[in-house]
Amino acid sequence: MSNPITDHFRLIDTQKAALRKLGIKTLRDLLYHFPSRYDVGGDEAQIAGLVSGQEASIIGTLEKLETKKGWKSRIPMSEGYLRDSTGRIKLRWFNQPYIAKMYADGTLVKAVGKVSGSADKIYLANPQLQKISATEAGLFSQQISPEKKSSDLLSRPRPQRPAGQTIFSDLFAVYPESRGISSLWFRSAIKKIFEQKIEAEDPIPPAMLKKYNLPTLKTALVWIHTPKEAKQAEAARKRFAFEEVFMIQLERQRERVLQNREKSFSIEATHKEVGEFMAEFPFEATVAQKKAIEAILGDLRAGHPMSRLLEGDVGSGKTAVAAVATYAVVHTRPPAQNFGTLQVAYMAPTEILAKQHFESFIKFFEHFPINIGLITGSGCYKFPSKVSRDKITSISRAQLLKWVAGGEIPVLIGTHALIEKSVQFKHLALVVIDEQHRFGTSQRRKLAKKDKQLPHLLSMTATPIPRTLALTIYGDLDLTLLDEMPPGRKKIITEIVKPAERAKAYEHMRGLLQEGRQAYVICPRIDEPDPDKAFALQAKSVKAEAKRLKYDVFPEFELDILHSKMTPKEKDGVMARFSNHEIDILVATSVVEVGVNVPNATMIIIEGAERFGLSQLHQLRGRVVRSNHQAYCFVVPESRGESTTARLRALVTAKNGFELAEQDLLQRGLGELGGRKQWGVSDIGMEALKNLKLVEAARTEALELIKKDETLSRYPLLAETVASRAQHAHFE
Ligand code: ADP
Ligand code: MG
Repeated sequence: MSNPITDHFRLIDTQKAALRKLGIKTLRDLLYHFPSRYDVGGDEAQIAGLVSGQEASIIGTLEKLETKKGWKSRIPMSEGYLRDSTGRIKLRWFNQPYIAKMYADGTLVKAVGKVSGSADKIYLANPQLQKISATEAGLFSQQISPEKKSSDLLSRPRPQRPAGQTIFSDLFAVYPESRGISSLWFRSAIKKIFEQKIEAEDPIPPAMLKKYNLPTLKTALVWIHTPKEAKQAEAARKRFAFEEVFMIQLERQRERVLQNREKSFSIEATHKEVGEFMAEFPFEATVAQKKAIEAILGDLRAGHPMSRLLEGDVGSGKTAVAAVATYAVVHTRPPAQNFGTLQVAYMAPTEILAKQHFESFIKFFEHFPINIGLITGSGCYKFPSKVSRDKITSISRAQLLKWVAGGEIPVLIGTHALIEKSVQFKHLALVVIDEQHRFGTSQRRKLAKKDKQLPHLLSMTATPIPRTLALTIYGDLDLTLLDEMPPGRKKIITEIVKPAERAKAYEHMRGLLQEGRQAYVICPRIDEPDPDKAFALQAKSVKAEAKRLKYDVFPEFELDILHSKMTPKEKDGVMARFSNHEIDILVATSVVEVGVNVPNATMIIIEGAERFGLSQLHQLRGRVVRSNHQAYCFVVPESRGESTTARLRALVTAKNGFELAEQDLLQRGLGELGGRKQWGVSDIGMEALKNLKLVEAARTEALELIKKDETLSRYPLLAETVASRAQHAHFE
């Protein structure tokens, strides 16, 4: 299973590139590249009635397949025809010249694809072909209804099959594709592998399969790729979902066991001292904040490294909690030393955020004289400056690093630059991480000095996720929820605005801008869609919308754009100018989602709202609830469908982000949550997350296994799978 795929298939370069892009290197990767859906046979169309734009499934014979080069583009392609009793249609496969060589003239196939081209010149674009054998064809001909009195087997596009009898696999797999590799390729490749009878050892112990009534690996592979009926595919998907969640759990639980065996700095800060520190805050901590602080102080005392995740909506006051944890640490002397203090590293995902934390910390520590450092790609700073006790001073990186290594700077805030090798701490006791949750023992070990104790970890996130996902991916962390907002916040006013009533929203915005506030306008796209692409998204784009707003709606205000294709420097520049109120209106894609804090921005318009998930919309709207000004969120869907409005209405009624995340999961499913990219969970693993029972079962089994055999020495295959997973789930 771990042999490279190139041992089994002869591949051309575009195919190799496509497979690489899909992350398929080994035979195992290929077998675990699961169909994204199955097309159902039996609803074939006739060629005569086809219209452009339609997805069609047609039974017919192939004619004149040949390899060609695109007329202008010079793209290698295959072309040919499909004929049935009603006529013939052109077939075209771009970038897949090999297809022409795979089929002889006259081959009977079922072709599935999109009818493209203009009315009088339609063709099937990149159709997937499935051969129908002579015997199958024979069965077809028997079913030709007598009234049709036709001897042409193909004249009956909808053969009625006797119940229970399968003529050819009714369901055929449609795979996530990439340019150069089609579902067709996957189907034939998988078939070839099945024929080779390759040994596939099942990583899940047989007793466990039996207990949960799951198919074995071999059966499941056959069922998932070539199901005879939907039930088989379902059972197989369930098994693989269980397998994935189980593997993740094993990895996390093992991580947890390892952590608990490690030693860490024991932090002793009395309630009285912490109370005094907090008494200087300009506000009274919420009950939720106090509880979180209590839990953290308990962890810090225990002598083992803390691994805690603090989950709280935007604005719930996580920074203050981090400040208290930091205080407890920098209040403590290093072991066997009667001078100096333990150290804290505080990492943020962007430079802007790092600077904001730096400024917040300076305020929180006003009454507790310590040095605070800031390290980012664009410069290093220290507070206080030598000359003036209340000023920030810019210092060289070398100087900063020297002071951090010597322990003179106990608190260092920064971006990823913080965890580079060159940054050495003297007694790093606590790592605080904003919006980055996978940070395991090994990363902490890299930060700690050789053979020294592991630092404590406090992760913080405002990304609301459903419970099943939290249980799965945060299996190694203790969870604390900040489920209460600081008092005095005005609840954001959210309105769903019909596209035709945009003008009203704009007038409201103008009023706020005139009062000196700022605003965001969020669009789903960066550029205008390619006009040649017939079915391209019609969604609003940042660039076009910014122009329109600038010239037609808000000529009197400063406006700029922000999107993911800009360089980090450009992005930071725009954000800095927005922060300084040199920009009134920021037109952006959802990039502003990540923790940006501009309290003066109090209104957000979200265009194409139905393209975002509820929790994403909630995150976006969180950008404007950073102050005591009344905040507004205007949500503008593109369509006027009842269901869209109903779904968006949840934004008005839901109590918090977690509720919305659960709703997302139930209503829109998993795609919404980002899958592999964001969480390191595959699509099929994400499917499992709809099923709390399955997740809990996988978790229980993993826990028990690890308790009995923490190195998995009796399950070498499991150990290997877990290890390779851990390797892939690297820190980004
Ligand atoms: P987030 O959880 O999004 O990181 P912050 O820590 O940035 O939230 O806090 C948002 C704002 O609320 C800050 O200005 C902070 O000073 C303020 N704040 C935090 N806790 C309280 C509280 N208990 N009462 C009033 N304001 C608070
Ligand atoms: Mg924050």
